[in-house]
Amino acid sequence: MIKTISYLGLGTMGSGMASNLLKAGYKLTVWNRNAEKCEPFARKGARVADTPADASRDAELVIYSLSNDQAVEEVVFGAKGILSGINEGQIAIDMSTVLPATSLREQKAYAKHGVDFLDAPVFGSKQESADAKLWIMAAGNKAIFEKVKPILEHLGQTVYYFGKNGNAAAMKLVGNLIVALEMEALAEGLVLAQKAGLDLNTVMEVVKVADFRSPLLVSNGQNILKRDFSASFALKLMLKDAGLIKKFAENLQSPIPALRVAEKNLESAVALGFGKENASALIKALEKEAGVEVKGAPLAKIPAVSPAFAELRRGRERRPTTAGHL
Ligand code: NAP
Repeated sequence: MIKTISYLGLGTMGSGMASNLLKAGYKLTVWNRNAEKCEPFARKGARVADTPADASRDAELVIYSLSNDQAVEEVVFGAKGILSGINEGQIAIDMSTVLPATSLREQKAYAKHGVDFLDAPVFGSKQESADAKLWIMAAGNKAIFEKVKPILEHLGQTVYYFGKNGNAAAMKLVGNLIVALEMEALAEGLVLAQKAGLDLNTVMEVVKVADFRSPLLVSNGQNILKRDFSASFALKLMLKDAGLIKKFAENLQSPIPALRVAEKNLESAVALGFGKENASALIKALEKEAGVEVKGAPLAKIPAVSPAFAELRRGRERRPTTAGHL
């Protein structure tokens, strides 16, 4: 049974996952480029490593969640990187969102050192990471997957096995294609609603219950109405992912016309200076074009069912349900 784990990359996602590994009782070593982020973990008993190589030397399992392919390049393949410290018989797991081709490159490089590798990216964001409620996908050797599954279950609410290396990374890009389009749809919809003079709190009440509802639309829509763009999934990371999806889909000659539109708006919002805000700040590019700001009434003033929605409901109840009245 695995007892010693190293976690590298204590950003929004990594810090939640590393905390949960500590809570689960694993002997933890941490490393982060900006060493300050290691301090809370040191206070809770984790060893702080000086370099990725140092972090990787002793642990049975090395896990990392890094921004992008470039960060993986530096932390895994670079001087004092994981590959220069890790030894035969250890296991490495990359939980970052990267190209499937990068996962395959990692797997080949680790195999030369006698190290097993899984790509295991996640769905969910800051809160799900902190609450160990992520949705995790993993790919690679099945026996290794079974060995680390109990550990991944300390981080997420579901863990799916996707077969050969690169497949979990591919699934992550498929999912993020859908996420990017949901965000684009939400932004376009709310700007249109604002332009049409609709009560935006009532709009969100409908978004919450209608047959197109999704947790992502609800949480981001509510935060947009509050003008809360604090990052749980940074806009610049979503732009990064749009680039990965494009490269991946183009390689497979799979059409992604809507993603191209979303990517253009993500680029515009980043160019306006909102890259470090939440991905929902994508709406700011559309707001600029439309000359409006999407904002709801303060939540305290919203009745459980707004007057407009109650009226709509009363109207429905009064109306006979014959085709002539539709
Ligand atoms: P984040 O908060 O920006 O953290 C990124 C981490 O990568 C930090 O630890 C950062 O170190 C490190 N890093 C970046 N460039 C580096 C480099 N060149 N060398 C060494 N370390 C480097 O990002 P995050 O939100 O945690 O996301 C991490 C990964 O999970 C990304 O691939 C993202 O796409 C994916 N993801 C994120 C979410 C989400 O909702 N946030 C959801 C699912 C998947 P420093 O602290 O020193 O900058």
